[in-house]
Amino acid sequence: MTGWKLEHSYAELPQLFFSHQFPAPVRSPEHIIINDPLGLQLGLDVDALHSQEGAAELSGNKLPAGAKPIAQAYAGHQYGHFTMLGDGRAILLGEQISPAGKRVDIQLKGAGPTPYSRLGDGRAALAPMLREYIISEAMHALGIPTTRSLAVVKTGEQVWRETALTGAVLTRVAESHLRVGTFQFAAQYGNRSDLVLLADYALRRHYPQIVGSEHPYLLLLRAVIDRQAALIAQWQAVGFIHGVMNTDNTTISGETIDYGPCAFMDAYDPNTVFSSIDQHGRYAYGNQPSIALWNLARFAEALLPLLHHDSKQAVDIAQAEVSRGADMFHRQSLSAMRAKLGLGNEEAGDAALVAQLLDLLHSSAADFTNSFLALTSGNFDSCTLAEATGFAEWRARWEHRQQRQTGGRAAAERLMRKTNPALIPRNHRVEEALDVACQGDLSVMARLLAVLHNPYSMTPQQYAFAAPSGMPYRTFCGT
Ligand code: AMP
Ligand code: MG
Repeated sequence: MTGWKLEHSYAELPQLFFSHQFPAPVRSPEHIIINDPLGLQLGLDVDALHSQEGAAELSGNKLPAGAKPIAQAYAGHQYGHFTMLGDGRAILLGEQISPAGKRVDIQLKGAGPTPYSRLGDGRAALAPMLREYIISEAMHALGIPTTRSLAVVKTGEQVWRETALTGAVLTRVAESHLRVGTFQFAAQYGNRSDLVLLADYALRRHYPQIVGSEHPYLLLLRAVIDRQAALIAQWQAVGFIHGVMNTDNTTISGETIDYGPCAFMDAYDPNTVFSSIDQHGRYAYGNQPSIALWNLARFAEALLPLLHHDSKQAVDIAQAEVSRGADMFHRQSLSAMRAKLGLGNEEAGDAALVAQLLDLLHSSAADFTNSFLALTSGNFDSCTLAEATGFAEWRARWEHRQQRQTGGRAAAERLMRKTNPALIPRNHRVEEALDVACQGDLSVMARLLAVLHNPYSMTPQQYAFAAPSGMPYRTFCGT
């Protein structure tokens, strides 16, 4: 297929960081969905992507021109426990250089076993790969940094989970797959020079403005903390619950990665957990900022040898950066919530105003997304928030607060229309699309993707997809 322009900068790191690994061929690859606009952005020939040859490439049966397939090594804390991990079912074909000069990883997820597979089969099932496709593309449309999905192809083989499922391969596009866990791996299994090479690589790839500065590794730590703080504030603002915030799923680029048991919250409740395996609620909605900060503290730990030659001073520096990070998380979160309330300036009482609204949302079990829509439009039909005791007083205070900014209520409404989505991927809508897609009918998923593409548009067509199901929802680790 034409259009591939693959480079391999990651593979220039020491051999410790990866294993050469060919994808394992599959029986009969067949397209399920291709992301044409993304393909075009990447400089790929979209017609060729849709051809048989395209299906062969996107399933791992035929290597694209210039591919040098590898599996990446990494470690990570999973539910608080440190383990050696690595790409157990993902194969990096290389880094595509787009016509705009952007470098992105092209990874086949579900492409067969690797030296890091442990007991896994290296494969993926169709429904979870389509789920990643839908949610990652929805996140992108919401304006939230995320890995993208280029394609899903069926393999013509079955994968065994509790039952036999249709096998599939997802092509994932990412700014990189460098994770906190990659640094933990280097710190644990490499020597100091491996860690330096990895940190320099991450700087060149994601933070080139820092290269050559006096304290590059300190600034790397700070920059990653800042990007993660901005990311998590955006998750919180749309009610996104990742579900598996292990350190191997925390990127250095600041992109959302690994859509396993993730889902969007309906009724506001900070204790919301969807993942069936998260029994203690470690990764509940309300815990996401503190867990992200915990993961970043593991990043700081991995970087210790680079922060100062004196280990005591290195720890002091790391601790100061993590404390600064806690403040940054708080500031980003408040600023996202201010924007959701249409507040373009800052006042001392804003944090309290936000906290009181969240209490009202919680006590009235109001739908998170639709309550902010009601606040935007002023139409509270079927919005339980309006019935909460204390809402009228809160609303009066909020309206006064809006008057104290330039542009008053009109400016607030303009800002709110940009910051409050009319539509998120509602759990029952996603499940419905996946159910029929697995039976061969892709039309429901296509309709869902079309509306999710434009989440801030407040048209009647959008509202048809905006209702919560009202049913309890459980997700299973996306395998
Ligand atoms: P995840 O929960 O998707 O972040 O994956 C955690 C780890 O398990 C990573 O090292 C994955 O590569 C590995 N893994 C997940 N599913 C499989 C599978 N079916 N076969 C091999 N490895 C897997
Ligand atoms: Mg992962």
